[in-house]
Parts: sequence; structure tokens; C-alpha cells
Amino acid sequence: MSAARDNLLKEIESDARETAGLTGRRSFAPRVMEALAGVPRHEFVRPGDRDNAYLNRARPIGDGQTISQPLIVALMTDLLDLEPDHRVLEIGTGSGYQTAVLSLLAGEVYTVETISRLSGTAKDRLNRLGYERIRFNVGDGHLGWPEKAPFDAVIVTAAAEEIPDALVTQLKPGGRMMIPVGPPAGSQSLILATKARSGAVDQRSVLPVAFVPLVRG
Ligand code: SAH
Repeated sequence: MSAARDNLLKEIESDARETAGLTGRRSFAPRVMEALAGVPRHEFVRPGDRDNAYLNRARPIGDGQTISQPLIVALMTDLLDLEPDHRVLEIGTGSGYQTAVLSLLAGEVYTVETISRLSGTAKDRLNRLGYERIRFNVGDGHLGWPEKAPFDAVIVTAAAEEIPDALVTQLKPGGRMMIPVGPPAGSQSLILATKARSGAVDQRSVLPVAFVPLVRG
């Protein structure tokens, strides 16, 4: 298992170099790579799928959902430029894998999931594995988590038709958001949205991606 994990980290490093022309980052921050090295991905896939846990692929987690591809987790996390005192909002808890990575890099993680069974499983798993400073909510991530706003960073791990206004509102001036935008099963772009001190929002398209849709309601 540990050889497979080492291979995955090397693959992510080489993919980072190959996609640098698009992403602007030839390598990811050492603390991001350490967080990825530290989270046991085999605990987040289905028990029968553990042999595949360290492949650089999305994997099914039930309810028609997937655990994101490790390269994309690394890239999205890196581009958020998290600091140890940051408050992060995550939309799409899923397996809780991305949540675990975020919790190692930020101060507090607020994670919203629409499927209550997935949220409950992720919560039990993250508690059992000892990840801390995470709050869970079941609901529609289009609405964010207004009671806990504002956030230094927002990460959405399902594709939205457009960037939800509530998420922009709940992002602090100076904050960063990573969100895949595009039609379900159509061509989607990973977007880095940054909010200036003035409140103006700049959007940059980073990479073509394929995420499950951010559903309504
Ligand atoms: N970060 C997760 C990815 C899960 S896939 C992981 O690595 O495991 C995307 C998740 O977004 C799914 O669990 C899906 O149920 C959830 N989702 C879809 N629409 C949503 C919405 N409107 N609000 C919150 N979560 C949503």
C-alpha cells in the first residue's frame, strides 16, 4: 500500500509539471503534498475497491457519486493557498477525502453535502480517523452556509451551471474559490475565482474537468 501511495505522489508531481502551462503551477506546495501523503485514501473508497485506492482516478463511492481524482484534489487545494488560520467552506463532502486534506491545512472546515447518508458516513469516518475542526451540514450547497460566513476559501467538488451568488457573497474580500463550472456531462472548466478587496470578482479557467453535477434542492 505504501509503495502505491509513493507512486501516486510521484505521478501527481509529474502531472503538475505537465499541466503547468494551463494551471500556472509547476509544483504544489510542500505542505499540500504532505497532506496528500498523510491521508489514507484506502479508508475513503469502498472496502472492495481498496486495491485501486492509490490509482490517480476518481472512484465510485455509492449513490452515483465519486471520490475525486487525487491530481484534481491536489491542484484545487494548492490553488486555494490555504493558511493555518483559514476558514474554509467545502461543497460536496462525498467520501470526506478532500475534507480530510483541507483539515490538515486550514483552521476550520465547514462541509456541506446534499445526500445525508454520504454526510453521515463521511462524518463517522473522519471522526474515527481523528480529523478535527470539521463541521458537517446536510443541505443544498448552492446556498453555502451563511451562518458560518465569511470564508477565506471556498471549494466546490461538483459542477455548477454557473457560480452560485451565495458562495461569492460568503467569500471574504481577498478570498479564493475553486469551482468546476459547466453543464452536467458536458464540457466543464475548473475555475479559480478571486475576490478583490473592492469586492470585484476575477475568474480564470484553469483546466478542463469532468465532475458529477451540483444538484438543486
Ligand atoms: N470531495 C468529494 C467529492 C464527492 S463528488 C470526495 O472526494 O469524495 C461530489 C459530491 O457533491 C457528491 O457527494 C454529491 O452528493 C455532492 N453534491 C451534489 N450536489 C450538491 C449540492 N447541491 N450541495 C451539496 N452537495 C452536493
